[in-house]
Amino acid sequence: MKTLLVYTPRYLEHDTGWGHPERAERLNAIIDGLERAGLWDSPSTPVRQPKPAKVGDVRAVHSAEYVELVRRLSASEIPIDGDTPTRKQTYELALLSAGGAIEGARAAWRGEVQNSFALVRPPGHHALRSAGGGFCYFNNIAIAIRKIQQEFGLKRTLILDFDAHHGNGTQDIFFEDPEVFYISFHQSPLYPGTGRVDEIGVGEGEGFTANVPMLPESGDAEYRTAIEDVFVPLAEQFKPEFIAVSAGFDAHQRDPLTSLLLSSEMYGWMMGVVCDVAGRLCKHRVLVVLEGGYDLQALGESATYMVKAMQGERFDAPKKRKAPPSIERLKHALREYWEL
Ligand SMILES: [Zn+2]
Repeated sequence: MKTLLVYTPRYLEHDTGWGHPERAERLNAIIDGLERAGLWDSPSTPVRQPKPAKVGDVRAVHSAEYVELVRRLSASEIPIDGDTPTRKQTYELALLSAGGAIEGARAAWRGEVQNSFALVRPPGHHALRSAGGGFCYFNNIAIAIRKIQQEFGLKRTLILDFDAHHGNGTQDIFFEDPEVFYISFHQSPLYPGTGRVDEIGVGEGEGFTANVPMLPESGDAEYRTAIEDVFVPLAEQFKPEFIAVSAGFDAHQRDPLTSLLLSSEMYGWMMGVVCDVAGRLCKHRVLVVLEGGYDLQALGESATYMVKAMQGERFDAPKKRKAPPSIERLKHALREYWEL
């Protein structure tokens, strides 16, 4: 099992200012965790430096006006919003972050490796087609998927987004698109406030978005149910050719920004299920893209469990409890499209 780690020290240069939770130390904490476990730049977990995404690749996802807006705001150091500052190099680093996701997606699709983990900053899943925010400038995972769709013609990509915040940007970009199925587990209520169970896509994309809002203090048991009762059956019916994961570690019990209670090991269990499904359905092809997660210890531990799972190690399932009420409502919302 080979897992490609995509990373460049230039990702540490993305400067969000003093006291901002989305800081360079996050990546250092993940690398430290992987190093301690012998998983950083080993023969089975090589590290590769990415190239920046081309502007054309970014425009396959974002409007030309928005891409230009980010370039101009960055040049004059004007923030996108209160949480999303810019510096001179922000535009260039946002292109490099998207390029990291592209590199990981290509390597996993071509079968150079079984799976890839793009350890990128800035994150991307809150970047809509024509707007940024929530620490995000360009939508890395969406840009990577569009790129491999164009290059290799794939028709069915499944995204699992388990960042604690709803990936409103990714949902927006693929809301009308039946070729990309977006599944999100996220805390509700919480920023950005989207991701209700009745948001299931529109037009041709109707039935290809599934949201599982989690009440504050949901933990391993609730996420196990969401994986087993939503992710697995939808994956089996949709039959993806490729699985992409928006991996945020802010649903962890130590995270300062949310009220969810996942353990570090739970990230290993979830990823094990994702990799088993990918083994059955799509030749193991999985791309993982880093999104949020703001406690350094939680980041180091959780990402290490996740990479161990990508390398074939499996972890015990947490105890099962009653399903969260949102899952019953989601089954109802999707009943015309999928069997859950
Ligand atoms: Zn988040």
